[in-house]
Amino acid sequence: MDLLEYQARDLFERFGVPVLPGRIASSVDEALEAYESVGGGTVVVKAQVRVGGRGKAGCVKLAKSAAEVAEVAGGILGLDIHGHIVDTVMLSPAAAIAEEFYFSILLDRAANGYLAMCSLEGGMDIEQLAEERPEALAQVSVGDGIDAAKAKEILTEAGFPEADHERIGLVLEKLWTAFKESDATLVEVNPLVRTESGYILALDGKVTLDANAEFRHSGWAKYHETSGSVDLERQAKELDLNYVKLDGNVGVIGNGAGLVMSTLDVVAAAGLELPGHPKPANFLDIGGGASATVMANGLRIIMSDPQVESIFVNVFGGITACNEVADGIVRALDILGDEAKLPIVVRLDGNSVEVGKAILAEANHPLITVKSTMDEAARTAAKLASEGN
Ligand code: GDP
Ligand code: MN
Repeated sequence: MDLLEYQARDLFERFGVPVLPGRIASSVDEALEAYESVGGGTVVVKAQVRVGGRGKAGCVKLAKSAAEVAEVAGGILGLDIHGHIVDTVMLSPAAAIAEEFYFSILLDRAANGYLAMCSLEGGMDIEQLAEERPEALAQVSVGDGIDAAKAKEILTEAGFPEADHERIGLVLEKLWTAFKESDATLVEVNPLVRTESGYILALDGKVTLDANAEFRHSGWAKYHETSGSVDLERQAKELDLNYVKLDGNVGVIGNGAGLVMSTLDVVAAAGLELPGHPKPANFLDIGGGASATVMANGLRIIMSDPQVESIFVNVFGGITACNEVADGIVRALDILGDEAKLPIVVRLDGNSVEVGKAILAEANHPLITVKSTMDEAARTAAKLASEGN
């Protein structure tokens, strides 16, 4: 269960991790109230969505007056960021940043323990840093937790000067307590900053909680209302789609509940043989009348699921023949335009299958691969997800 930034901020605050005050708002009026309640001045307005790189996407912005707050919040609310519609922003007094660092703790299943990652270079895309200059990202396994000695080890490994160890170490210890006590599987602070006056602050927070531990935490019910899966299921419902979010990375679309169920099984079986064991990401039955709009809505919902890496469209032409479905897929991709980024494996069979395949071949769309059998298509889709497409 992934928390939104303001929920991570609240959680950090409960464990004494230094954070800025934050107020959330879902309208321009609320943003103006929030602006007053944080005391005016220069504030930062941030979209509350579960996608990284908000800064780059233009949804972390500074505002210096009520008029600017209205303009900035009005601009960010309602934005579509990679399929996530912004319905909430958080306002905080802006920090004067001197340096940005990176710190995270994660469950390391392979090592049956925890891993801390830390870098003097925060703020940027950490995957990129790990790839381009892995030596700049310290990785230290955490046995029983982070105490002063462990914090010192992590900071030394990351290259922090001795003089910083105590002050920043205290923050790492508190982040460990927040991680452990909250049954988290990930706590990431990017950036952890030093302000110009020397304070250390967690300026952004990403927290994933272990859903299996929910019975130990009565306070988690509130997270469900804002959780991504509920969001997607609600959006799907508004579009009249029969959609259930699952936990994997292969999006599945089919017509008829029985066909979709067996598609899930075939994808799961194909995934077992591949690295990372790709699994179905969802159940989605688009029913008998798969028009282009229904197909586009289905593809859009699936592509909004950040876990999805590939999509398997498995259709048996009946009343709606394969040519209409093929047409629907091609027109859906037209409708989606640049929004469509994931590879789509299509298996068509049944009524007018040859015409359907001819339409797809004619369209020659770079995202579409056509396979003749369900097994072959499932293997291809699972393989694409396994490779991170
Ligand atoms: P992300 O892009 O989704 O990770 O969003 P962040 O909350 O990490 O913000 C992105 C970047 O915006 C940070 O790395 C900072 O450089 C900048 N930023 C965020 N909050 C503040 C702030 O309070 N003051 C200043 N000056 N910059 C900020
Ligand atoms: Mn960040």
